[in-house]
Amino acid sequence: MLKNLYLHRYFQFSLKVFYYTKEISRWAKCQDDVFSFVPTMGALHAGHLSLVENARALRKPVLVSIFLNPAQFNNAEDLKKYPQTLAQDLSLLSRTGADAVYLPVTHDLYPEGLAEVVLDLGILDKVFEGLQRPGYFKGVVKVLHRLFSVLNPADVFFGQKDLQQCLVVEKLIAAYFPNIRQHNIPTQRDSQTGLALSSRNLRLSDEGLLKAGYINKALKMAAEMSSTEKAYNMLTNKGIDVEYLERVTLPDLQTADPDSPHKAVVFAGYVEGVRLIDNLLLH
Ligand code: AMP
Repeated sequence: MLKNLYLHRYFQFSLKVFYYTKEISRWAKCQDDVFSFVPTMGALHAGHLSLVENARALRKPVLVSIFLNPAQFNNAEDLKKYPQTLAQDLSLLSRTGADAVYLPVTHDLYPEGLAEVVLDLGILDKVFEGLQRPGYFKGVVKVLHRLFSVLNPADVFFGQKDLQQCLVVEKLIAAYFPNIRQHNIPTQRDSQTGLALSSRNLRLSDEGLLKAGYINKALKMAAEMSSTEKAYNMLTNKGIDVEYLERVTLPDLQTADPDSPHKAVVFAGYVEGVRLIDNLLLH
């Protein structure tokens, strides 16, 4: 009933809505597999929409998935608290010009007996997000391997906000889907504070949002200095519980000395109990 309601409401914007692998793979085949794909977990904001806009610029049909992937959450509480705004998401997607949206049904996307994906992530599974969120990248690999297998898109779009995830996806694509082109899109930020847009920001109070605005300042400060100490202290003085703030090399995410080429500064920490991540690429 609910599904029909959505289909009816969004039909007027010609956004097609799919739930099952059979129907979405039929849609994909009808595009001759020439379409762009933007995977998301919903609670969409301008960051997600910039991926859709970049995808549209290729002038191929654009498919967006919204799936709160349980395999990506090692903390049941975190999954429960993750914001869900489906009606608004569909409206935003139709206004941004997406052609279709796929809302996977968990037991259909993950049928019983689905084989585990073998992928050596090397250091990526052992540092930063890999270290702090055990099993997280296994969950990312599981869902993306399944989605790419069902859909077979030509182009896929990811945000640099999740820098380590971009590196994991590169490994997955190189190993299993060499025909897929990956596009990593720059992070969209709040125009005043520079705070990276994130679905999790919805859980912050106004005061929390102001505090979180210091994350971007700290990243810039750490980028300009040879040590992250001052930036770290600024964040803790503002009441931000820093998990990590480090200058790293790319793509291997090793702690960088001042002369290393291809660097980034990476951050994770808690504001009002909400875990936020961000990074700055240094050119
Ligand atoms: P999520 O729904 O958090 O899984 O994000 C879906 C995609 O949107 C991922 O590729 C994210 O990296 C990307 N994304 C999230 N926030 C931003 C942002 N502020 N700017 C650009 N891309 C983003």
